[in-house]
Amino acid sequence: LGASRTLWELLARRAEHTPHTPALIQAGAGPDGDRTLTFGALREQAERTAAGLYERGVRKHDTVVWQLPTRIETVVLSLALARLGVRQSPLIPYSRAREVGLALRATGARLYAHPGRWRGFDYADMANRLAPGLDRRPEVLTVYDTLPDGDPERLPPPPDDGTAVRWIYWTSGTTSEPRGVRHTDRSLIAGGSCLAHALRPRPDDTGSVAFPYAHIGGPDYLVMTLLYGLPAVLFEQFALPDALDAYRRHRVTLAGGSTAFYSLFLAEQRKRPGQRLIPTLRLLAGGGAPKPPDLYHEVVGELGCQLAHGYGMTEAPMITMGDPGDTAERLATTEGRPPDGMEIRITGPDGAPRPSGADGEVRLRGEAVCRGYLDEAESAGAFDDEGFLRTGDLGHLTPDGYLVLTGRTKDIIIRKGESISAKEIEQLLYEHPAVGDAAVIGLPDARRGERVCAVLEQPAGAGELTLDGVTAYLRQRGLATHKLPEQLEVVAALPRNEALRKVLKYKLRERFSAPRGTEPAG
Ligand code: ATP
Ligand code: MG
Repeated sequence: LGASRTLWELLARRAEHTPHTPALIQAGAGPDGDRTLTFGALREQAERTAAGLYERGVRKHDTVVWQLPTRIETVVLSLALARLGVRQSPLIPYSRAREVGLALRATGARLYAHPGRWRGFDYADMANRLAPGLDRRPEVLTVYDTLPDGDPERLPPPPDDGTAVRWIYWTSGTTSEPRGVRHTDRSLIAGGSCLAHALRPRPDDTGSVAFPYAHIGGPDYLVMTLLYGLPAVLFEQFALPDALDAYRRHRVTLAGGSTAFYSLFLAEQRKRPGQRLIPTLRLLAGGGAPKPPDLYHEVVGELGCQLAHGYGMTEAPMITMGDPGDTAERLATTEGRPPDGMEIRITGPDGAPRPSGADGEVRLRGEAVCRGYLDEAESAGAFDDEGFLRTGDLGHLTPDGYLVLTGRTKDIIIRKGESISAKEIEQLLYEHPAVGDAAVIGLPDARRGERVCAVLEQPAGAGELTLDGVTAYLRQRGLATHKLPEQLEVVAALPRNEALRKVLKYKLRERFSAPRGTEPAG
């Protein structure tokens, strides 16, 4: 199955192999209960949907933007588009006019599929309001309970080429505006194969993903599901405690999420000491953000399962992953090793490769790496002369090939010409008893170039945080004097994106670089 050239070919082979095995299980909390679709039915429904879209005039050269919650219908639609060979651009349901407008405009979308009204938000109304500002007004299609339907006999043959750009995924927009990333069936299959290789699913595993299917991790897990024929439990909107009930009901053994989700599980586990939160869970997998220093030991010790934490980005969803069989020391302190086919190079400021142990920019080359960005100019500068993608992440490789991430180039604060890593300060702040979460940013400063500002999230009832108190603490923890924050902001909640709960530092920079007294609300 791993030799499949296209996603459709992979699905077709899986459906032939195990047509009666459950593929997707929609966890339903309401009166509808759970719904299950087998691999055979998934293929059949995707083909009927493809035919319905074809009858509506959707063709190979079109782009379909879909913004849908994680439902069986969404996966069917996305596979139907893969069957047609249409370019698709998934958006998570939480994106609003600014990002949706950007995606519709930049892709020249022919069709925009949305859920109608979902969680109190009217997507059709948003589409109407966006239409006048677009060069091309997309047709709209509501997808929730129903899908287009047609006669598969009338379909042209499926695409046989996996190297065409058929997927545009959007970056989180942590450092700037979200960028459209070009993927092919081949890059997505390579990414999913890497994930499967790292997690080594067993025949009796049941998987589940906490983040939205519209996120780049979605096809990663879908490919794993198709390769191994595992059932995957889907959540229309992931929330505790319903999700935990679904894990128990479906005996989930392998749960995918992101760094922020583990913390959710841990908090819940701590409310019930002595009782395993998810008794069937054997492996928690995920990543996508820095892990707090004690996370590994906490997950393994308290949740009683293994943890595979990895490094990925929209441009390359699976770069490295901790191997659950490795030593605790390596799993706790590194991001693991790259799988076969993923090359990592650490480069100095001049772009030259650096030896192991030396920090530099992480660059990537391999099948699972994207084919650049939607924006041509952006694409041109994305790769170096040897075809390595510049990630903008900083780190080093240990002599035995494990990756340690130390920060992001855009997260380096340059104060009086000295480079300061936001991450180094954040790691110390996480351990402060009154700090819930921390983000350190550089703010423009007339005298110093940039100054260090610490933005702290404070749980209700925690002790008071002052600049003096925090700097005294950091000093005592050994932080160099020139790295001490000169500004402190305490917030109830850090701004985060909805897909992975990642902190949006650009929003903090916007908010706190404004002169005092004029900062925008929120
Ligand atoms: P944008 O590119 O729009 O500014 P973004 O880079 O945050 O946003 P994503 O593609 O969702 O958007 O995130 C990828 C980034 O997340 C990586 O480049 C890296 O900085 C960070 N990241 C991912 N996994 C890890 C990890 N295990 N540890 C630390 N950082 C990680
Ligand atoms: Mg990025």
